[in-house]
Amino acid sequence: MTATVNGDVHDIGKNIVGIVLQCNNFDVIDMGVMVPCDKILATAKAENADIIGLSGLITPSLDEMVHVAKEMQRQGFDMPLLIGGATTSKAHTAVKIEPAYSNGPTVYVPDASRSVAVATKLISEELCDGFVQERRTEYETIRERNKNRKPKAPPLSYEQAIANRLILDWQNYTPPKPSFLGVRVFEDYDLNELKEYIDWTPFFITWELAGKYPNILEDDIVGEQARALFADAQAMLTDIIEKGWLTAKATIGFWPASTVNHDDIELYKDDSREERLATLHHIRQQVQKPSKKPNLSLADYIAPKSSQTADYIGGFVVTAGLNMESMITEFEQNHDDYNSILLKALADRLAEAFAERMHERVRKEFWSYAPSENLDNTALIKERYAGIRPAPGYPACPEHTEKATLFELLNATESIDVTLSEHFAMLPAASVSGWYLSHPESSYFAIGKIDRDQLTSYAKRKGMSLEEAERWLAPNLL
Ligand code: SAH
Repeated sequence: MTATVNGDVHDIGKNIVGIVLQCNNFDVIDMGVMVPCDKILATAKAENADIIGLSGLITPSLDEMVHVAKEMQRQGFDMPLLIGGATTSKAHTAVKIEPAYSNGPTVYVPDASRSVAVATKLISEELCDGFVQERRTEYETIRERNKNRKPKAPPLSYEQAIANRLILDWQNYTPPKPSFLGVRVFEDYDLNELKEYIDWTPFFITWELAGKYPNILEDDIVGEQARALFADAQAMLTDIIEKGWLTAKATIGFWPASTVNHDDIELYKDDSREERLATLHHIRQQVQKPSKKPNLSLADYIAPKSSQTADYIGGFVVTAGLNMESMITEFEQNHDDYNSILLKALADRLAEAFAERMHERVRKEFWSYAPSENLDNTALIKERYAGIRPAPGYPACPEHTEKATLFELLNATESIDVTLSEHFAMLPAASVSGWYLSHPESSYFAIGKIDRDQLTSYAKRKGMSLEEAERWLAPNLL
């Protein structure tokens, strides 16, 4: 019995699925991450696999999964296709993936612990047909429901959405000026300092232990397991710090900025604002909003050029995943999956902690618009700070290719060794990037669905073909 699993960057959930299956006597071929479709299918054929599993962490992989399903259909595969990973859902599987692959069963697996039951049923002569039939009926129902679900109100036109933008009072507000303009690099950042900023709740979620830290440690059901895992994590964290298992680096930058065309942000080299360094392209909420709420775009939080207000924007890339390979290789050679996953999970936690700490330093020192802020880690995790650090690929700025502009502005690949994959995932995976916005009214929001008129405008502003823009914005298109 073989499952091939494909994910993007490192996908801890995929590793866990592999281990859970292996522990239950399945042979697993872990193909690694960002594996091209042809390679997955060729390996499945060569190894005579019984099941193919795909895992997707970021939105561009959703389309890739549909592509794999189509190819399986075209090449006459009929083995089951399992779908899992953070960005996937039963609805996406039912609406987009299953219809592309009618030769064989497609099954959505919500978490690693279910993978054994699903895989066992799929290879069982007695259970397979019934199980597959149930899934097909269930997905058909979801598709029907989806088809009948009309939007509550038609979307606004893009022009109407712009007219309903958030208009801030720039005449009575002076944006704070950063303490420096341009880029600063932080080499070999002290991991001891970052340790205190770790948000542990997502760490337990990675291991499929449900509950909030620290209460999870006392939980009646998972408490004991959580305590053991937490103790192992603390011990490894000490090794990471003392033995230098991970290297953390960051780069941050600040630039004069103005909003133009409502949804683009121009960045300039210096305060003369004569030399333009880059233009960021944003998307605006287009669905009708209740009770006069504005249709937001991140560009609303930056002063429009016409206001003649000197505003600024910042950007950052942080990583805590450098120099990790030698330890991972060592664990893998010893077949020590547990410690290999633990290290990847801790690198992810340290990267998030780094983003949190750097953002705090930006508010207090580098941009210095909240010098006397005094928030504990719980308040930081609850985002009680002023200003935001929206991340390209997340709901307020869902288009991943904007990361290319951010990386160029910061020269991040050369200065801190973080690269972007073809699908704009960051490598090492334990990296975080985003923009810094300082306006006190700025907050995280979701763009939601947009219509084709905005797609056309976006493609034009960005200098992309309509097809390409459509591909990148697919998850947001009505
Ligand atoms: N404490 C968490 C922090 C990560 S999630 C952890 O350790 O895992 C929070 C971050 O995700 C934010 O700081 C921001 O960078 C990004 N984010 C969250 N919601 C967003 C949105 N709607 N739009 C853009 N970025 C968002």
